[in-house]
Amino acid sequence: MPRRRVPRPSTPPLRAAAEQQERKADGDWMVRAIRGTSTKDYRCPGCSQLISRGLPHLVVWPVEKALLSEAAIDERRHWHKPCWARRH
Ligand SMILES: [Zn+2]
Repeated sequence: MPRRRVPRPSTPPLRAAAEQQERKADGDWMVRAIRGTSTKDYRCPGCSQLISRGLPHLVVWPVEKALLSEAAIDERRHWHKPCWARRH
């Protein structure tokens, strides 16, 4: 009876495709593109306008968490893509 070949553990897909680090004047930020599957409206800090539901946009959070927050992920903000791109 032939021994069953044990499948090799597959390498996890690179997360780098979904998230990237960007350097702005006020620090380093993680940026993740959202395909518009959100069920909430978010307000973009760049233009103070709402990001409509279903609109592809960016979620951005600091690489280094602020002193008083539990985790950097708690500081994430939703941005319109063009608004984030305008930021320096
Ligand atoms: Zn905006």
